Amino acid sequence: MVEVVKRIGLMGGTFNPIHNGHLVTAEEARVQFALDEVIFIPSGKPPHKSERKIADAHHRAMMTLLATVTNPYFHVSQVEIERPGYSYTYDTVSYFQELYQGQAEIYFITGADAILEIIAWKNVEQLFEKCCFIAATRPGFDLSAIRSSDLPQSAKDRIFYMEIPALAISSTDVRRRIREGRPIKYLMPSAVETYIYKNKLYLK
Ligand code: NAP
Repeated sequence: MVEVVKRIGLMGGTFNPIHNGHLVTAEEARVQFALDEVIFIPSGKPPHKSERKIADAHHRAMMTLLATVTNPYFHVSQVEIERPGYSYTYDTVSYFQELYQGQAEIYFITGADAILEIIAWKNVEQLFEKCCFIAATRPGFDLSAIRSSDLPQSAKDRIFYMEIPALAISSTDVRRRIREGRPIKYLMPSAVETYIYKNKLYLK
């Protein structure tokens, strides 16, 4: 019997909140890299951030569900939210490798700014053996910092880059707009916008 290897995109992010830049990134990665599906994974407890500044995980997961529901290739996993302790990408990728019993090529998709710090991530060498990375850049992003980083060449060869003009939208800007009473319409699906206002998120 021929074993079918799936190509799986894991879309990692805090999604605080999710916006159209994230959705365009995931769809672009899906098509460019012929992925069978993209699984959005809102971070539970990011190792590099103070919890105070981040909306509750259940709100971020709900917004991610609302944002992705209309795309048949998009799914949401709560694996990082349900796992106690810090959300390490190594643990997440290992989880999906086991889930697919080694029959999946895994592409971890995230922002290039996050990839810049990857050298400090847990088990980074083994992580590069388990998956490739797709780093989404905002227009004008300078890749030289990643290219000149201390990562071994074999790891650098497993990072692919995608410039995403829609990443001119950022979660930071969305939160600032809400605090300042400025519009967020059209920066995210309307269901996410409604959810934010209904739950009074990001007002301070
Ligand atoms: P971040 O520092 O909040 O974001 C870095 C930049 O990347 C921001 O400009 C952000 O824009 C953008 N970004 C984040 N996720 C993106 C995505 N999926 N697609 C496009 N742009 C994205 O990074 P983060 O969200 O906390 O972390 C990103 C991923 O790296 C998460 O899955 C996290 O768990 C993982 N990570 C793992 C470790 C570890 O294992 N030790 C350490 C750090 C991060 P927006 O603010 O607009 O999203």
